[in-house]
Amino acid sequence: MITTLFWDIDDTLLDFKRGERIAIRQTLSHIGIEPTEETVQRYSEINESLWKRLERGEITRDKILVGRFEMLFSALGFAGDAPSTQDLYFTNLGEQHDFVEGAEAVLDALRGSYRMIAVSNGTTVIQSKRLAASGLDRYFDRIFLSESIGAEKPSAAFFDACFAALPDVRRDEVLIIGDSLTSDMRGGADAGLYTCWFNPHGKTNQTGVRVDYEIAALTELLPLLKQIG
Ligand SMILES: [Mg+2]
Repeated sequence: MITTLFWDIDDTLLDFKRGERIAIRQTLSHIGIEPTEETVQRYSEINESLWKRLERGEITRDKILVGRFEMLFSALGFAGDAPSTQDLYFTNLGEQHDFVEGAEAVLDALRGSYRMIAVSNGTTVIQSKRLAASGLDRYFDRIFLSESIGAEKPSAAFFDACFAALPDVRRDEVLIIGDSLTSDMRGGADAGLYTCWFNPHGKTNQTGVRVDYEIAALTELLPLLKQIG
């Protein structure tokens, strides 16, 4: 029986990709780079590749935050200051907190019936700001942020730390809901949880990671949970 839901935040409950695009455009404009579609895309690709390396344990978080702007400036041949650009970007990003469609309605419907736990690889200062500004924080009994824990999804260390703080929750009564196969689904499967892949764009799972349930819209979670029991 599922008693507890582990929720990914970015691109599961909050529309991170949209917020990221807005914040990066504001930031580039401010430092004198024209934020064309191509430049924003270039930034996104660099950033995504660095986060994937973090999930694989190849680099540290600090390396990503400044490194992505160093790499972007180098790709564009632009002489910019990466640390101050990163600071400005964080200020802009912290103000972005649009919901994924259906997020509030689904959380409202489930609150009270399940223990609600947030599990995010986001950066502590940004995630805390966005969770508070969006009002999402009020839905959660506990919020686990990887930077505060000192380990990232999908690592066992991340999930072990969560369960150490939730002594009355058994792993086989938890369903983790998230958009990422490599962090949420892999981490959940390895940690012995049930997994639900939020896959709004109909991607194919080519990772070999076990997925127990799949939904294309958050509202599908309500009938699914009834069915699982
Ligand atoms: Mg996510």
